[in-house]
Amino acid sequence: MSESIDVTGRLRKMPAEAGDPVAYNLAIGDNRITLNDLIGHKVRLNFDGVIRCIHCDRTTKKSFNQGYCYPCFRKLAACDSCIMSPEKCHYHLGTCREPEWGEANCMVEHVVYLANSSGLKVGITRATQVPTRWIDQGAVTAIPMLRVASRYLSGLVEVACKNHVADRTNWRAMLKGDVPELDLVQERERLLDLIADDLAQFRAQHGEESIRIVDEATLGLGYPVQVWPAKVKTHNLDKTPEVEGLLEGIKGQYLMLDTGVINIRKFTGYEVRFRVLD
Ligand SMILES: [Zn+2]
Repeated sequence: MSESIDVTGRLRKMPAEAGDPVAYNLAIGDNRITLNDLIGHKVRLNFDGVIRCIHCDRTTKKSFNQGYCYPCFRKLAACDSCIMSPEKCHYHLGTCREPEWGEANCMVEHVVYLANSSGLKVGITRATQVPTRWIDQGAVTAIPMLRVASRYLSGLVEVACKNHVADRTNWRAMLKGDVPELDLVQERERLLDLIADDLAQFRAQHGEESIRIVDEATLGLGYPVQVWPAKVKTHNLDKTPEVEGLLEGIKGQYLMLDTGVINIRKFTGYEVRFRVLD
């Protein structure tokens, strides 16, 4: 059955559903391909050279911020530098690129969480993006720590946390399955103690109700991986438009082939053909 899969269209970030293992789909145009079923099969991805902006549909020579054309990259609030550095949110100054987008996406509840993707890290996300964000990062466990009133406030808290824990994933370690076991409940308590003074200060400035400590459970995530790569080699469609290999696993936004890994999210907006060869 799988050998009949041959689809062409614009690549999107892989939709995924939490579970053990996480259930992945490949989104190409309007097609959704159940990826977990294809593990152990040989697949091929061809990039025909066309990239279309995921916002305005225009063709673009280069993709900016994972799928946008240059004009959209310059214009959209979603592509502003404050998205990467939320503590720089400038909505309150009246200079948000798209105030309505800001209201819907930034001036809403955010979660400050701890995750274990390649060791302990702190992160933030919109409340509605849990657990999607954790899956995209390849976390094996994650736990909410605080619920805060806005993206800006989550950024301030994250900056305070960065003095004590990492905020990045070592994606090579993540892909090798090289992840230490951690007790996130304990880590959460430890970190909350360390940032207690910062939290008191933020509450004094932004209101008592603006930051809530939460006592939610750890979520465990398993990934459909048959073989872990010993060495992580990456495929790049910009340099090699044809990528082929045996699908050995999926983790984060990566397909793990016996010939190397490919970060699907990086190629959002690329027009591709995907085939199962056996
Ligand atoms: Zn565009």
